[in-house]
Amino acid sequence: MINRHCPVCHVPLEPEDYEGFRVLRCPDCAGHLVDLTRYESIKRLPRKTLPELEAEARDGFQGDNPEPIRCPRCHLAMQKRPLHVPGFDLHMDLCRPCSLAWLDGGELAMAQLGHQSTPGFQDRQTHRERAEALEADPDRKAAFDEALSNMPLEKDPFSQGLKESIVDALQHILFRLPFRFPFR
Ligand SMILES: [Zn+2]
Ligand SMILES: [Zn+2]
Repeated sequence: MINRHCPVCHVPLEPEDYEGFRVLRCPDCAGHLVDLTRYESIKRLPRKTLPELEAEARDGFQGDNPEPIRCPRCHLAMQKRPLHVPGFDLHMDLCRPCSLAWLDGGELAMAQLGHQSTPGFQDRQTHRERAEALEADPDRKAAFDEALSNMPLEKDPFSQGLKESIVDALQHILFRLPFRFPFR
């Protein structure tokens, strides 16, 4: 493994296990060099709690670096891409040929906070918490399974999507949440 250097401080980057993914971290500026695929996984998987992410962002963040930087692997100029974090004007630096992303100190945590504040993420999170609550209550789970088995399901290409809509509707009923008709 060739030593990679921080594109900002030029000191050697150090390997770090970040939420189960291998990344490289600068000991001086706390910036992260992350493979793009791993970056997407880190952003999407809610492995750290919101307070943990907030503490990490607070400790590491020194402001967005507006200067152009070079890829620590191929040394070509990296491209600035916006990081979608509400209330902040942040960028990550990308090298597409190397499939590498550079995030300044604290920005990896802020990217996750930005992702977790989107409505899509919060819907999925709420849905999962409801499903876990259902699993934890045997009486409700039995009522749910019985109601589901009485549902007529057609064997057509849409049946899986239809079944998921019905499951979602049943969860709303069983959890006594405002019922939304799901097939509109
Ligand atoms: Zn650095
Ligand atoms: Zn590169």
